[in-house]
Amino acid sequence: MDMLVTATLLIQDIQLLCYTIVFGVLALQRWNDPTRRWLWYSFLANAAGAVLDLLGTHLPAWVSQGINVEMIPLSYAVLNVAIVCFDRRGKKAVWLSGAILLAGLPFFLAWSSQPSQVRNNALGDLLIALECAITAVLLLQGKEQSTRSPRIVMGGFLCYFVGVEALRFIVAFPLHTNPDALPKLEVVCTITYIVNVSLLPLAFIWMMNARLESDLLQQSIVDPLTRVLNRRGLEQALEREMARFRRYGEDLTVAMLDLDHFKRLNDAYGHAAGDAVLIGIAQLLSARLRETDVVGRFGGEEFVLLLPHTEVGESEPILQHLCDSVRESSALLSDPAARPTASFGATSTRGRRSIDAYELLHEADVALYQAKEKGRDQVRFFSPADRVRGKLHPFPSMQPVR
Ligand code: GH3
Ligand code: MG
Ligand code: MG
Repeated sequence: MDMLVTATLLIQDIQLLCYTIVFGVLALQRWNDPTRRWLWYSFLANAAGAVLDLLGTHLPAWVSQGINVEMIPLSYAVLNVAIVCFDRRGKKAVWLSGAILLAGLPFFLAWSSQPSQVRNNALGDLLIALECAITAVLLLQGKEQSTRSPRIVMGGFLCYFVGVEALRFIVAFPLHTNPDALPKLEVVCTITYIVNVSLLPLAFIWMMNARLESDLLQQSIVDPLTRVLNRRGLEQALEREMARFRRYGEDLTVAMLDLDHFKRLNDAYGHAAGDAVLIGIAQLLSARLRETDVVGRFGGEEFVLLLPHTEVGESEPILQHLCDSVRESSALLSDPAARPTASFGATSTRGRRSIDAYELLHEADVALYQAKEKGRDQVRFFSPADRVRGKLHPFPSMQPVR
């Protein structure tokens, strides 16, 4: 049994050393990321505890038996700081973690000179249980969808770990028994510790990776200037809405809007002013539409709007209101002569379940040209009688859209 415990302790220390190096490299690679820094500090605290263990008899008792018992709770307290930095919320948990450590310190120092370290270690177990309970709450409280699985794995395991540490404390303190002298409990603890050291760092890396993947996915569908969907995001949304229309039969309106004489505005006021107008228009559209509607930048100064569950009769006043709002948006530029107007072309599925997404966009595009031809600053709906310019073919970027 002793051999097994010694071997697992050695494996744990080697694992800790490896993770300390890996997290050190990760932190140095991006030093301005506080999550990575605090994660490394957490492993450093743990490694410092292992070094103090090794130096044990060469150190004064208040260090080897006092400060040393604080090192593992300290590493969990620092892990809590890393999670708070990762989530950008929960600062109170950091204060609570620190207070728990401070409250334990006088006892560790006072008891460090006693021949038996059972009480010291028991208090260490209690502090670990409390710090880990905070870690588990922080992890399981996070609502972020992309990091749900690693949070559940880490938080779930930590709940069990809190139970094991609390049991060790109860055995040692109220029951006056050394938990390391109970063979069954010792085996459970040894296995638990080794799973803990293996699982937590991997799950934390998993959590950071899940966030990164979700952020990249988000960036790939959002227009960096206007913060509305870009063309890729728009096409995905259109396919999604078309699938809903085919399934539930609720009509979908697709509108395309193009700012009028935008080149003139750019030429007169510069591209920075043009950019500000584009941002303003995107904000105006997002603010005026329903939450279920979709706004995206199709390209240049063209936007596409998707209005689900809306047929022509319902969408006409909505689009007309938007057209008026763009004209009246006096806040956008101080010079009234430079206030932008927009032309809208729109179409609707009108119950045609076999129609393709690109055909709808094409119809909206044809209607938009009609609006431009008829004098701009107006809304036009596509009618089958409208002359279709050119050959109807899929937009290149619509192939393939999944
Ligand atoms: P029309 O009423 O016929 O639509 O005229 P227009 O001037 O708006 O159309 P045109 O296609 O001639 O010019 C579009 C202009 O949009 C040209 C381009 O400089 C500008 N534009 C495209 N993308 C951006 C952008 O991201 N920022 C700025 N500032 N301007 C842009
Ligand atoms: Mg244009
Ligand atoms: Mg234009």
